[in-house]
Amino acid sequence: MQELRWIWMNGKLLKWEEARVHVLSHALHYGTAIFEGIRCYRTSKGPAVFRLSEHIQRFFDSAKIVRMTLPYSKREIEEAVLQVVRENQVEECYIRPIAFRGYGRMGVDPTECQVDCVIAAWCWGAYMGDKGLTEGIRAKISSYVRTYINAGSPRAKASANYLNSALAKMEARELGYDEAILLDKDGFVSEGSGENIFYVKNGVLFTPHPYSILLGITRDAVIQLARNLGMQVEETLCTRDDLYLADEVFFTGTAAEITPVVEIDNRQIGSGKPGPVTRKLQEHFFRIVRGEDSSYRHWLTYV
Ligand code: PMP
Repeated sequence: MQELRWIWMNGKLLKWEEARVHVLSHALHYGTAIFEGIRCYRTSKGPAVFRLSEHIQRFFDSAKIVRMTLPYSKREIEEAVLQVVRENQVEECYIRPIAFRGYGRMGVDPTECQVDCVIAAWCWGAYMGDKGLTEGIRAKISSYVRTYINAGSPRAKASANYLNSALAKMEARELGYDEAILLDKDGFVSEGSGENIFYVKNGVLFTPHPYSILLGITRDAVIQLARNLGMQVEETLCTRDDLYLADEVFFTGTAAEITPVVEIDNRQIGSGKPGPVTRKLQEHFFRIVRGEDSSYRHWLTYV
């Protein structure tokens, strides 16, 4: 992670090394935090943030689910995100707003702890490497089950959900794979450790229904884009066999963008190379985020 100069913390810009928290912050002990991951892309008109208002809306939705009142308005957080990009003078970056229960009181109940709010940014290339984007990655169905809807809240981008993701990711990598695919408690495919999943069969695009997953903003973008390109898109129950027998599989996410999956559990997917639908969606997606497709201009906020 390349250090930048400024981090926004509780309304002030602090130097990177001075943005610190107390070791007895509630969130550090009990995972009481919610966060976002947003990308800002280089365009011919300067840096542009992709789907800023949708990310900030999800930030506030996550806060509502975990019963955290943010001491800022959506507009103030949006403005602060833009300020962080501007002040750090970067063309492209990954932006991480986080709100967490800070220092105040120990014990599980967070309600008496203050809510701290931070926005950091750093330069981040392809999440699973440039080779992953162009040649595809190998995934494994995880032995870990995705957090159940009434145990954690998958709709919230909550830090506590990411122990589940981290365990799955570590397991997959230790076994020599790039990424994990988690099933839900009923055995249906939910998502990757930090990505949503799609598959293509006979020209139709399928993705798991929106119940046991984080409702990804890239997922939504890909659904809209595919429909606009005339494709049929179905949100469905999806089994591991559907993935094994798919013509193409890919992950979507802010960090992962559109990453082809060419092998799952040592079974080759389709031709074993990124397929034509995946490549077409990637091509359109990267044109959109770089401001080269005016019909999606409303998805960009120029810094
Ligand atoms: N699922 C999980 C568990 C994630 O962490 C992410 C990344 N935020 C996604 C899906 C994809 O969401 P988005 O496209 O909004 O980044």
